Amino acid sequence: MSDCLFCKIAAGEIPSSKVYEDESVLAFRDINPQAPTHILVIPKQHVADSAAQVTPENSAAVAHCFEIIAKIAAQEGLDAGFRVITNAGAAAGQTVPHLHFHILAGVEMADKML
Ligand code: AMP
Ligand code: ZN
Repeated sequence: MSDCLFCKIAAGEIPSSKVYEDESVLAFRDINPQAPTHILVIPKQHVADSAAQVTPENSAAVAHCFEIIAKIAAQEGLDAGFRVITNAGAAAGQTVPHLHFHILAGVEMADKML
């Protein structure tokens, strides 16, 4: 999608602090980190705006993102644990409508998720 921030980052048109890249996934540090480790994992292709649009046709991209999340967790030494969040829709706090997963770690997290 031509007017999508994360498509532009995936295409290298907007710089990012890259953590991992392969032919279909990019991971980069969040520009406004909410934890000592805050990494965004995106499918490079705009396969969905959010988790609300995951279907049998595009779910392989989601599975691949989670394989890479495990790899990044090992690479970043997140042995103490980490949290993966995906926001779907404005009411959930989504600001960039390109499917992505937040990896958060390095801080004591509350038992509650909200
Ligand atoms: P969400 O609110 O779930 O849609 O997450 C979007 C995330 O993208 C936010 O945590 C922003 O801080 C982050 N973000 C926005 N612009 C950039 C950018 N240029 N580089 C890295 N992260 C960004
Ligand atoms: Zn996009």
